[in-house]
Amino acid sequence: MPKVPFLDLNAQYETIKGEIASAIQEVLDSSAFVGGPFVERFEEAFADFCGCSCGAGVSSGTSALWMTLLALGIGPGDEVVTVPNSFIATAEAISMCGARPVFVDVQEQSHTMNPDLLENALTPRTKAVIPVHLFGQPADMDPIMEIAKRRNLHVIEDACQAHGATYKGKPAGSIGTAGCFSFYPGKNLGAYGEAGAVVTNDSGLAEKIRMLRDHGQTRKYHHTMIGWNGRMDGIQAAVLSVKLKYLSSWNDARRENALLYDRLLAGVNDITLPMEMDYARHVYHIYAVRTEKRDALQCFLAEKGISCLIHYPQPIHLQDAYSSLGLTRGDFPVAEKSSQEVLSLPMSPDLGEHQLEYVAAQIRNYFK
Ligand SMILES: *Cc1c(COP(=O)(O)O)cnc(C)c1O
Repeated sequence: MPKVPFLDLNAQYETIKGEIASAIQEVLDSSAFVGGPFVERFEEAFADFCGCSCGAGVSSGTSALWMTLLALGIGPGDEVVTVPNSFIATAEAISMCGARPVFVDVQEQSHTMNPDLLENALTPRTKAVIPVHLFGQPADMDPIMEIAKRRNLHVIEDACQAHGATYKGKPAGSIGTAGCFSFYPGKNLGAYGEAGAVVTNDSGLAEKIRMLRDHGQTRKYHHTMIGWNGRMDGIQAAVLSVKLKYLSSWNDARRENALLYDRLLAGVNDITLPMEMDYARHVYHIYAVRTEKRDALQCFLAEKGISCLIHYPQPIHLQDAYSSLGLTRGDFPVAEKSSQEVLSLPMSPDLGEHQLEYVAAQIRNYFK
């Protein structure tokens, strides 16, 4: 075990162990293993948390994105615009509908979609835009929404890293046509397995996603459309309902830790600290610094018992999986540069002051 792990899931579990055990026991006692009342209860609570009227629990963030696109009728011949510096799932969801991902570059300070470049990427085939609220900070939504409205496009927020973040006071996921969330264990709200959700104010869309996730059935063995198995487990829903109560305080703790990093690392010339944009409340899923000496710094910190990660070392347009798009290095220079410079420092609500001080001291030590 390193001195400062990137993320210590067990530390958080220890604080809620008893509640989790009884929540899981309740599911076991009622045999509501897939879908059912525990899922419905969580859907309602999570939609409410996001300021939306509808929530649909699904099997992962990837399914949330995919099923939202399918429910909006996006398919072969269509284009969907997103960014190249996301987890690959954002692009995969587009591809798995048969549509084509089109990328626009990001802004250097925020790592999120550059709205000034969006219009240029649109064609008559464009059906939707997926801004990614990367690292826990919402993209600059107003100009994106304005362009989308004018061009009659859906906006699907990839909020998989931004549970509880806000944009000009509005919750992430509540601004576009729909917001997609992942509850992968390491996310700010994490299940103890796989899970995801879509939130929206469009009840028709939510209904369609609920059908798609359950083989397109309206009632058992009556299938009105071709769907898939994308349901949420009862045990995951019960775990998430317990954890949702703590999400705001956990996000506050992340923000405090980010502030402490900011203070401890201020004045280190060779690194750039993450920036909270004036329109955003950042929830620091990731605390990513930038430095030209990224790889060497990561090795140095690893030797000192500090685990860091890179989000992401290779932008999507340069992945082998997307070679057929014919894109090359130089096409999205801001995202490419960031992939060579970003380093995610250990970040979680449970990290203590001493751990952060140790990380900061070792970073200062490296640059001395
Ligand atoms: C985690 C993540 C996803 C995928 O979520 P899964 O639950 O792992 O399928 C999609 N987009 C982004 C930005 C993510 O961080």
